[in-house]
Amino acid sequence: MTDRRSELAGNLADVEERIAAACKAAGRKREEVTLIVVTKTYPAEDVRILSELGVRHVAENRDQDAAPKAAACSDLPLSWHFVGQLQTNKVRSVVGYADVVQSVDRARLVTALSKEAVRTEREVGCLIQVALDAEQSATGKGGLGERGGVGVEGVEELGELVARAPGLRLDGLMTVAPLTGPYAGREQAAFERLMDLSTDLRSAHPAANMVSAGMSADLEHAVTAGATHVRVGTAVLGVRPRLG
Ligand SMILES: *Cc1c(COP(=O)(O)O)cnc(C)c1O
Repeated sequence: MTDRRSELAGNLADVEERIAAACKAAGRKREEVTLIVVTKTYPAEDVRILSELGVRHVAENRDQDAAPKAAACSDLPLSWHFVGQLQTNKVRSVVGYADVVQSVDRARLVTALSKEAVRTEREVGCLIQVALDAEQSATGKGGLGERGGVGVEGVEELGELVARAPGLRLDGLMTVAPLTGPYAGREQAAFERLMDLSTDLRSAHPAANMVSAGMSADLEHAVTAGATHVRVGTAVLGVRPRLG
């Protein structure tokens, strides 16, 4: 094994152990939680190694980096998740490789994704990104905060929009533990809130059962709350050289 390969293998084993322990503690089956490795800022070679090590889901947050990486890895059996704030002018590119867009947070984005999915005859999975920074967003139903996301009060309407949009599939909800607002420093409570919203969403859309929450620092809280997908970057790949 190369140094990098053994490093990634060791890190993956550690993360796997954490997920398994959290599942056990929560009385959940290990298969209920899917690991998505966030490969942003790391090269296609790392993605290839991860694939060889058994990773099946990877995530990226910037189209400029993700598009060439996905192209270089198009021979690999990977699902690509887009988790960054998405400008409508990048939609065409992102729909070219993303199986799931986890950062759907406004109507205009839904329209653009739908149009492109139909044009390219692809089906794009969509998660509504929920901003828990504030229960009430200043703009009513608009995006919140720098990290994106729709306020809690806008989730249902946006979910309906996705569910009705040709070419799109409503898969569920995503959040990032907020740094500000009532849930700052309360990851467990934030993820439990997301689970409640998921229960509401599933009453109208039973198949929209994905709950994407938890990163390197807080994946245990997410698993305990009931997340179906955790998004782990640093703990697998190392501390990123730059903010991404
Ligand atoms: C970078 C990123 C992650 C992974 O964060 P780590 O702390 O490196 O595990 C998860 N979700 C989103 C949306 C991200 O941008």
